Amino acid sequence: MVIEYVGQNIRQVVADMREKRYAQEGIGSSYLFRVDHDTIIDATKCGNLARFINHCCTPNCYAKVITIEAQKKIVIYSKQPIGVNEEITYDYKFPIEDTKIPCLCRTESCRGTLN
Ligand SMILES: [Zn+2]
Repeated sequence: MVIEYVGQNIRQVVADMREKRYAQEGIGSSYLFRVDHDTIIDATKCGNLARFINHCCTPNCYAKVITIEAQKKIVIYSKQPIGVNEEITYDYKFPIEDTKIPCLCRTESCRGTLN
């Protein structure tokens, strides 16, 4: 385990409203992480260092939803040994959408977009 992705647990309706509000406020990056069909963790204004981990098409970590005492949590695990000063990354696994978000990971196997 590397770190838990911490934030406020919110429902889809609230996530939709916040996403629009954040865009209006000029908050460029969204830190909304889907746990399951009904629940999203919002780390935009209340989170930890996990929200700053970048996407990579060839990551050294992965995100997994685990359940502890009936509460779902997102935890970042390492896939391999990670060296000192090596950037921690994971695949965001965004759903495919028409409006593409370019990927900046610059790895040989980069897919070109996050979604
Ligand atoms: Zn990439």
